[in-house]
Amino acid sequence: GNAIYLESQQRRESNARTYPRKLPIAIIEARGVQVKDADGRMYYDCLAGAGTLALGHNHPVVVEAMKDVLNSGMPLLTLDLTTPVKERFVDELFEALPSEFAGKARIQFCGPSGADAVEAAVKLVKTATGRSVMMSFHGGYHGMTGGALSLTGNLQPKRQVGTLMPGAHFLPYPYDYRCPFGIGGEEGHQVGSRYIEHLLDDPESGVLPPAGMIMELVQGEGGVIPAPDAWAREIRRITGEREIPLIIDEVQTGIGRTGRMFAFEHAGIQPDVIVISKAVGGSLPLSVIVYREELDRWEPGAHAGTFRGNQLAMAAGTASLRFIREERLVEHAARVGQRLVKHLEQTRSAVNCIGQVRGRGLMIGAEIIDHERASDRLGSYPAYSELAREIQRQCLKRGLILELGGRHGSVVRFLPPLIVTEEEIDRIAEIFHEAVLAAER
Ligand code: PMP
Repeated sequence: GNAIYLESQQRRESNARTYPRKLPIAIIEARGVQVKDADGRMYYDCLAGAGTLALGHNHPVVVEAMKDVLNSGMPLLTLDLTTPVKERFVDELFEALPSEFAGKARIQFCGPSGADAVEAAVKLVKTATGRSVMMSFHGGYHGMTGGALSLTGNLQPKRQVGTLMPGAHFLPYPYDYRCPFGIGGEEGHQVGSRYIEHLLDDPESGVLPPAGMIMELVQGEGGVIPAPDAWAREIRRITGEREIPLIIDEVQTGIGRTGRMFAFEHAGIQPDVIVISKAVGGSLPLSVIVYREELDRWEPGAHAGTFRGNQLAMAAGTASLRFIREERLVEHAARVGQRLVKHLEQTRSAVNCIGQVRGRGLMIGAEIIDHERASDRLGSYPAYSELAREIQRQCLKRGLILELGGRHGSVVRFLPPLIVTEEEIDRIAEIFHEAVLAAER
């Protein structure tokens, strides 16, 4: 059962692991939205590879696409050489992009992970602009490699590794519920964007013109915080007027997760660079950047890497993208996401510990608060990480896998596969409701 695997994991695996400690199970089978542990218990998987599994576990179209490659005698790895499998993947991905963007875009395969693609995006804009400073946002998450980590707005994983990429500047991100400088709302967004303009324009701010700015449009690991559309348009205006490439990190939000194919479509803005990973590989490791062709100024050899030709991942990704398009899963995600929010709002009004339910599509968070302590200056109560952990435990006990996020680990995150049905959504919400009641007791 679970115990044997867990004992072995604890003895042999790195101390750096986090969520496996909070989710002490070994998974032995998985299909769709559900997984089975080594003790034979079933769970709804609302972690789903941190939003990677758009079609859930082992979807037949993904499995068949991989089998086709395996049975056809086609190569499994071709470095950066092209193949029919790659050709089809690029066609399908460009089909998923807004046509105004895709018509003038270039793609760079980056490797297996989201962090690989963030590193490539940073190199691309540095090369294109000849500048070296990068800007990113408070609470943002971009990965654990050197450059990506230096742009991640969370000190915890950075503290012990000393100097990272120099010249990383952090900008205020609109987090209304706990605005870091105590304003919040429309006024807070305006102060934030005006501050950014000031930083860029005033020589006395002491910051060199940046090579680029990177942001998520719904912060995921940072606690499911959607950027207001008007604010996102302001950032696009500010960077556009100053010819600062804007990199939108769609690693978690991309491929339908937020109820649009890409999160930037909500605000109707055009990025200069899009970072794509997670769901694009149909559950296999794959990451790319897609960017405006004018930025394609690096020289041959400027960016290389061995594992960028993963044919199985491209085939799985193509099948997955096609299924999403044909089955209109993006609209479905928007619809069932609203249903889940409605349920969560009902739970929120029945208990005291949920401060806010927020998100877009099937990227939803519930912020857990301590209503017995004094409210802070914005009228929101303090974050309550211990209770969030207890809710997570109670969910697991009842057959629901959820992960936490946010600066205090106090945001419960829902990232179910996009194929989740209304019935499954109802059951997930029901389990969560019971778990919150049990945890609050
Ligand atoms: N960017 C965002 C927005 C992410 O959510 C993540 C992973 N959670 C990454 C980058 C890094 O991706 P990876 O873990 O594959 O390196």
